[in-house]
Amino acid sequence: MANNDSAKGDFSVPRTMFTEEHEQYRTMVRRFVEAELVPYHQQWEEAGVVPREVWLKAGELGMLCPSIPEEYGGFGGDWLYNVVVIEELARRGISGPGFMIHSDLCAPYILAWGSEEVKREWLPKMVRGEAIGALGMTEPSAGSDVKAIRTRAVRDGDEWVIDGQKVYISNGQLADIVVLACKTDAAASAQGVSLILVEANRPGFERGRNLDKIGMKAQDTSELFFSGVRVPGGNLLGEEGRGFAMMMTKLAQERLAQAVRSICVCEAAIEWTVEYTRNRSAFGGTIADFQNTKFVLAQLATETTAARIFTDWCIERFRDGTLSAVEAAKVKLLVTDLHCKVVDQCLQFFGGYGYMTEYPIARAYIDARVTRIAGGAAEVMKQIIGRDLYR
Ligand SMILES: Cc1cc2nc3c(=O)[nH]c(=O)nc-3n(C[C@H](O)[C@H](O)[C@H](O)COP(=O)(O)OP(=O)(O)OC[C@H]3O[C@@H](n4cnc5c(N)ncnc54)[C@H](O)[C@@H]3O)c2cc1C
Repeated sequence: MANNDSAKGDFSVPRTMFTEEHEQYRTMVRRFVEAELVPYHQQWEEAGVVPREVWLKAGELGMLCPSIPEEYGGFGGDWLYNVVVIEELARRGISGPGFMIHSDLCAPYILAWGSEEVKREWLPKMVRGEAIGALGMTEPSAGSDVKAIRTRAVRDGDEWVIDGQKVYISNGQLADIVVLACKTDAAASAQGVSLILVEANRPGFERGRNLDKIGMKAQDTSELFFSGVRVPGGNLLGEEGRGFAMMMTKLAQERLAQAVRSICVCEAAIEWTVEYTRNRSAFGGTIADFQNTKFVLAQLATETTAARIFTDWCIERFRDGTLSAVEAAKVKLLVTDLHCKVVDQCLQFFGGYGYMTEYPIARAYIDARVTRIAGGAAEVMKQIIGRDLYR
């Protein structure tokens, strides 16, 4: 077993879950991030999207859907390979490529509930980066309250006919396939929700605006429209009316993945700040000489260490198949709150430079805010945790 070196710094803890193979993979991913992502990210932020070629290159290296089994084109790694990819992007502030959406939000539904035909058609392409995946749940009038969605799917012979719209869909401009939450029984509540795979080349599928966000600028978060879109009956994932229950099981993975990303940003932001304050002169010394600097960073480092230990515990439980929805809600709530606090307090030590987007801390600050909203708002996490307390 090898200790992971992704989290150097006085606040880091030994990590023993990664094997030599994971660490070799990490080295390869890290090289790719430095060579193929870091130099171009600014340019993609201006464009609002990451080029497809980047996906193909990542696919070639096995960075997309690494835990998809070999029979569907993956290399059948455990979830720690997904973790490595999330961590290596997060620690360098790479928020544009929606690899996590693709590998941890979209592919798991297809693998778990797609027909054999659907899995054989789409998963190998997703692994290679030839098909990009998105998850379409949120609508203009229903986000947290998923069962209130209005997008309709009606059975017509051997096909589903889909009408409706989605908003804030990550990978929306690039997506070739969307795992779409639809109402197959408008009168029913949660039991009326089904998941259907929709290919973006179907007539009636239209992409709307690539939304102008305050952060995550290189991520193509978009509107999607569906007007009489016809897909084969076999594109239904799992059973009709079970979509809500299916989402409740897979949302734990999404929430943990977000925590994995957030804790890495906490660690990276503290490292950047230690480095910067050590070198920035003021009042005949450095910013690091002030007791306030050390105390604030000491507090953040302590909380980050505790959150890292909890996150790693959750990662191991997820890998072993024992992470509960409540634990996933707790880790997302805790770590995304900390993420926002760390980037805010660290940015302060950079003074005016901290407000300049050429500084990673500035971009980390604007990218952070969404983590308390997307994938389930903090209040929704509290509701899940609170409900469990009074079970
Ligand atoms: C950058 C970005 C990327 C996204 N990517 C995707 C994606 O790929 N796919 C997708 O389907 N969606 C995506 N989303 C949507 C995201 O998941 C929703 O924004 C989120 O679930 C909140 O839904 P809402 O925006 O409709 O807010 P609402 O549901 O209207 O909630 C607004 C606020 O009300 C409060 N609130 C809501 N419910 C409760 C409650 N039960 N108790 C107490 N307070 C509550 C919270 O403060 C919440 O923030 C993305 C969003 C963003 C911003």
